[in-house]
Amino acid sequence: MSGLHIPIGTPDGSRTEHAENLLAPNPSAMTLDGTNTWVVGGPDEVVVVDPGPDDERHLSRVRERLGERRVSEILLTHGHLDHSGGARRFAELVGAPVRALDPRHRLGGEGLADGDVVTAGGVEIHVYGTPGHSFDSLCFWLPADRAMLTGDTVLGRGTTVVAPDGGLADYLRSLDRLRAAAESLEARALLPGHGPVLPDPIGALDGYIAHRRERLDQIRAAMARGARTPREIVTIVYADVDRSLWPAAEMSVRAQLDYLEQPN
Ligand SMILES: [Zn+2]
Repeated sequence: MSGLHIPIGTPDGSRTEHAENLLAPNPSAMTLDGTNTWVVGGPDEVVVVDPGPDDERHLSRVRERLGERRVSEILLTHGHLDHSGGARRFAELVGAPVRALDPRHRLGGEGLADGDVVTAGGVEIHVYGTPGHSFDSLCFWLPADRAMLTGDTVLGRGTTVVAPDGGLADYLRSLDRLRAAAESLEARALLPGHGPVLPDPIGALDGYIAHRRERLDQIRAAMARGARTPREIVTIVYADVDRSLWPAAEMSVRAQLDYLEQPN
């Protein structure tokens, strides 16, 4: 795709024609390289998607990178702190409202929901409601670049977790919806909230969907072998995963048990 740039070794500076990533310095097992802050728009006006954590150096760097470009709005893919923590401060720095699905994260602006279209410097951003990772997760489609900003619904590598404020049934529906959109819209890139840009959207989404089915099958098998508690299941199903990730795995297993126990 013209304009798609994926640097080697770091997501910082990844870009499509109308979107550029500025990586926040908050790496961890959960946030991978750190949070991706996406600047999206035209030569005069942009929106900033996910200012990231409340880190003054990062927020200043994003602001400096804007140059003369005006920020019309700050958008949040969801309310988790690694994406939203710096939103209030960044809103002060650039004098722009914050829009999010969850009213608790809005500041001086309108809400943001499935079907909304935001325009920044002539560039359209179409909002997709994709609950699951969290109840308030949104994805943003950039028709001009045929790229989808996916927040934490799809990450640049590995897989994401279903947080306690999300749900697996919703998440599976959201993945199916993104898969269908990627196909019908001929998406050329997924721009995630963490990790590198994904240049094969359908391949990435198929991988996510297959991974979820596989994990559910493994959990059913572990239960058939007598595992009952989330911790017991984790020690069987996630035996090959680094132990530092087991608390996250346990959260994920809880979500999967909820899913298996409910009629869907
Ligand atoms: Zn995140």
